Amino acid sequence: MYLVRLIYCSAVTHELNMQEVEQIISTAKENNGKVEVTGLLCFNRKYFLQCLEGARTNVNKVYHNILNDPRHHQVVLLEYDEISRREFSDWAMGCVPESDLTKPLCIKYSGNSEFNPYEMRGESCLGMMLELRNSVALI
Ligand code: FAD
Repeated sequence: MYLVRLIYCSAVTHELNMQEVEQIISTAKENNGKVEVTGLLCFNRKYFLQCLEGARTNVNKVYHNILNDPRHHQVVLLEYDEISRREFSDWAMGCVPESDLTKPLCIKYSGNSEFNPYEMRGESCLGMMLELRNSVALI
């Protein structure tokens, strides 16, 4: 079964409270764990950036569910690659909230100190998520 990595970004349809975000994370952890999909979800009040890794069929199914979710819209696929190993194998769905999306990291990987994945290359999104994986306490 081919291993793939998919990265997308999206915009919230309405401002989500922490309880709603926790519900998304909890569903993601539960569902992804069952199909061995791993990854990372970054978010602030406006945007989501998510990386999904796993067997191609499973990642495609999860992404299809996510695409149809009314809690976000304007989903843009940033990267889709066959990979030889996972980068986020420890997390059914690691999660990085706005407070950990530090300005220096946003400046390093985009032209702006505010987190806006629509203004980042897919490669830069992955670079930022790899640094976050190594440096922040994931919830
Ligand atoms: P349920 O959770 O029971 O949901 C059934 C339906 O109701 C789905 O269509 C769902 O979209 C919708 N729904 C559920 N709660 C709400 C709500 N509060 N408001 C409006 N509609 C709602 N799922 C994963 O499995 N893995 C992921 O990695 C993942 N990441 C996500 C990232 C983001 C940014 C978002 C917004 C959602 C993510 N989800 C993820 C959730 C995903 O979109 C589906 O909701 C979920 O896969 C459906 O799970 P379920 O079959 O258990 O159904």
